[in-house]
Amino acid sequence: MRLFRRFINGIYLVIFLVIFGVIIHFFYIHMQAFLPFKEEVGLTDHHVLLEEVDVHNVIRNFDVTEQAECVPVIMYHRIVPDQRLVSNVYESKNKLYKTVVTESQFSKQMEYLHEAGYTVLNLRELYAFLTEQIDIPKKSVVITLDDGYKDIYYTAYPILKKYNFTAVSFIITSEIEEKNATYIPEVYQYLSKTEMLKSQDVFDYQAHTFDLHERDEEGVSLLLNTPKHKVKNDLQQNIQHLNGKEFAFAYPFGEYTRETMEILKNEFNFKMAFTTEPGYASPTELEDFYQIPRIEVSPEYSLDDFKAILEGKGM
Ligand SMILES: [Zn+2]
Repeated sequence: MRLFRRFINGIYLVIFLVIFGVIIHFFYIHMQAFLPFKEEVGLTDHHVLLEEVDVHNVIRNFDVTEQAECVPVIMYHRIVPDQRLVSNVYESKNKLYKTVVTESQFSKQMEYLHEAGYTVLNLRELYAFLTEQIDIPKKSVVITLDDGYKDIYYTAYPILKKYNFTAVSFIITSEIEEKNATYIPEVYQYLSKTEMLKSQDVFDYQAHTFDLHERDEEGVSLLLNTPKHKVKNDLQQNIQHLNGKEFAFAYPFGEYTRETMEILKNEFNFKMAFTTEPGYASPTELEDFYQIPRIEVSPEYSLDDFKAILEGKGM
């Protein structure tokens, strides 16, 4: 009888432990969603095993009936789902930060590029055009997304993929999440390694410093006031984290000096660097390839404004 009671008690204990375990697990999973900074804990290795992807490297043969003299390189940062906009993306009442475009705006802009027959160039094609090795169609564009926000995997990626477009994403590699955190659009989050690997068929991941995407107390970009050997060390790591990719660079905040240009050009193998100076990229107007202008697509732009940008009619 005593043995039987012990047996029953044992069963109760097992049932209790299972239920308790399920409850703990449930809380753990759900609490994670409310811990936005957890991805910063324990980050040691930011190396992402990116591959060489054909669509980013191939220079296509274009049917050029009307050729372009210059090309708009358009720039985005976050692409946020329309229903998930909260106070931290607003500069003031009803005015989004320039770096926040809604998913529906982005979707309409990409749809327009598709319907109007635009050619979305990869970086090799842009470089070949700038060095006058190829002609490109009049309706050409390059799409760039800076900083590697997590949004782009969930919002921009499926849209770009639908139209077979590629885009360049400049990554601050110290921010790469080692493990996947749940996507919460209300929080500023960065891409994880897995998300980067899964989206490299669309995104060409390029360098944006390892850990120099900050300003000092006087508001100067760290890239400009950090000693040269430390800048070189930072860029070395940045390249290594992107599995050796060393083709294009984007200056944090678009700020650079003659010295930063020379580091990219002489100490590394970067072939191009992008600023945030508004303008169009063309073979004739560039002093060299280390100060390519870009046009930021602001959330305030209508579709007509977007068309005007593409057609070279202003910003
Ligand atoms: Zn940036």
